[in-house]
Amino acid sequence: MVCALVLTLCSVGAASNWLTAPQVAVGTLHLGYALVFYWIQRRKKQISERLLFTTAILDAACIFGWVMVTGPFGILFTPLLNFSTIGYGMRTGSRKVLRVSQGAAFFFACLVPLLSPMWATHMIGWGAVILAVVIVPWYAGELTKQFKAAIEFAERESQAKSELLARVSHELRTPLGGITHAAELLRVEASTVRNADLSKTILDLSEHLLAEINDLLDQSKLTSGKMTLSPEPHPLERVLEIVSASIESRAQAKGLLFHARIDPRLTSQVLIDDHWLVRALINLAGNAVKFTDAGSISLNFILLSESLDDYVIRFSVHDTGIGISPSDQSKIFNPFVQAESGRRHASEGTGLGLAISQEAVRLMGGDLCVASTPGGGSHFWFDLRLEKAPDAPAVPTSSVPTTAPTKLTPPVSGRRILLVDDNSTNLFLLKELLQQDGHSVVTASSGASALTILSHGDRFDLLLLDYNLSDMAGTQLLQIYRMGVAQPAPAFFLTADATLVTERKLGETGARGVLTKPIRIADLRRAIQNEARPTAATSKVCALDQASPLTSDWQTEDDQKVGKHLRAVSVTYIDPAVIQRLQSLGRSKTFLIEMLSRAKADINRSTEAVAAALQHQDAGAARDAAHALKGVCLEIGAIRLTNVSLAIMRSDDAQLESQTAKMRTNLRDVASNTLAAIDGIITQQTQIAASF
Ligand code: ADP
Repeated sequence: MVCALVLTLCSVGAASNWLTAPQVAVGTLHLGYALVFYWIQRRKKQISERLLFTTAILDAACIFGWVMVTGPFGILFTPLLNFSTIGYGMRTGSRKVLRVSQGAAFFFACLVPLLSPMWATHMIGWGAVILAVVIVPWYAGELTKQFKAAIEFAERESQAKSELLARVSHELRTPLGGITHAAELLRVEASTVRNADLSKTILDLSEHLLAEINDLLDQSKLTSGKMTLSPEPHPLERVLEIVSASIESRAQAKGLLFHARIDPRLTSQVLIDDHWLVRALINLAGNAVKFTDAGSISLNFILLSESLDDYVIRFSVHDTGIGISPSDQSKIFNPFVQAESGRRHASEGTGLGLAISQEAVRLMGGDLCVASTPGGGSHFWFDLRLEKAPDAPAVPTSSVPTTAPTKLTPPVSGRRILLVDDNSTNLFLLKELLQQDGHSVVTASSGASALTILSHGDRFDLLLLDYNLSDMAGTQLLQIYRMGVAQPAPAFFLTADATLVTERKLGETGARGVLTKPIRIADLRRAIQNEARPTAATSKVCALDQASPLTSDWQTEDDQKVGKHLRAVSVTYIDPAVIQRLQSLGRSKTFLIEMLSRAKADINRSTEAVAAALQHQDAGAARDAAHALKGVCLEIGAIRLTNVSLAIMRSDDAQLESQTAKMRTNLRDVASNTLAAIDGIITQQTQIAASF
């Protein structure tokens, strides 16, 4: 536009003798330069810094040219020097470019009185120009600096928030996996009612903790604004069944009547992201049960209107509970807000459920509403326009929903499963759980060994692959495997990283689904029941499977003897209570020995990794390796080594650099004492096993 204007002015000016020859020359040069730059800009996607500097200087030169050739009117061009300089600063956000442009403007402004007799006689006006050229861009530069710092701060904050969430998700879910697996085993093997009750309590509390973690993660996913829906065809009866299964038993336990109704005219499947619909409804119905002591809860799907392509459906939850005061009704959709009556009534809850439901409903195109009277019950509802799915069989769900029914699916047994996880404790516990259900399990602790097993041509009914393997990503393992076989076994990923990015990444790999750690036995069983069809693989005996016989009641007296024995051992580096607990988990007498041997190998490997990273002053790698080390140590109660790992994880780059030698020595000392302590326990256990 500027070029066209200059061109027009020059040609009109030249034709009508308005412009002098120098003016036409400057106009033509300016135009030529602008056109060349425009052409370069169109060809290159990114303008180099050198080119930016050149244009910053040439722009100032062109403006200087105009000032020189336009006589007294030149004063009108001087503000353009500031305009150009500030423009460079703001557009690029670079103080360097701003300074170059400012330097060029200053240089050319200084030349003006030397070359122009007119300006030489107007030194005060010239002084004002110089002041403007120096002060205005300097001030703009300071503002740009602050502006840039604010942007960088916001970016760092956002990055830190994502990292924190991923870490929280991983850090909490991984040990929670161990807790639930162990409690699950305890429940199955409990020899007394009290033990069964206690293990059930652990399971209930873990379930509750997991729900809270999921709430935090969902809330952050929804508020990030980056959430998108993945609608797939689903029958609404199925959604109703899932929500009912999750709520019914809780309602019954409180003596409440529970009704779930669906409009009979809702016959077609609908396109919906069932995860978020189920999540919102379970939150609402769960609250209804929580805040109702007598009466009933009803969950209704009502058809409001229907067209050829879609339904408008009202999803509603009524209860006869404590109700909500009008002043609280406007606040409860905000995160972490609980109504006074609700807080008095139920101690559990974080105040996130309704905020998540509201966000989820908005994402689906609706709005969550409430009508309630204190003491007279509450009614929550939302209306959604849902597209009818073409008449086709429902596609399999992309993941096993973590909010799915809590009812345990009756286990199928006898499937042949390859389980791959580099956390040997998880591997061991999961294998135990699968073997309890009568499956034949082959385990691998790395991607490479899994590929070796798969390359033997053995067939599996199902692959369970950890996503974060130490030597390769689970996705890579699956890709290599799928390339080499005509009919690959169905695969599920196991991951503690419940972030959206990972979910998406895994969704595109061709796996049947994702099981989020801590893996719930009900989800695992459902995955096996739905996906692990028996093949020829099942009948073949697995040479690599070192599974011990599926006995379940060897512990009791023997167990107590071993337990007593262990207490007497002096193991300052290992928490005896953890060892005793682990001892009581295993069905075979060699369980603890195997587990500790694996832990030893893991500790050795991770210690070496931390030491090497410290030596190379690679703080990030040192913290990552310390994180892995901490995971193994926690599982076997290696208290002191856990603390050393934690100290490394929590050190910043400067601390890690300045204390490299000290940290390495300490790490090696504690690791070798821990390994010696483990050896002591292994020797003792071997003797005990041999004596029985
Ligand atoms: P939480 O249930 O975890 O406290 P929510 O966001 O689900 O968090 O609910 C926020 C608050 O709204 C609750 O603490 C409670 O006071 C109130 N509330 C929600 N549902 C009901 C209901 N059905 N009956 C009475 N109060 C409710």
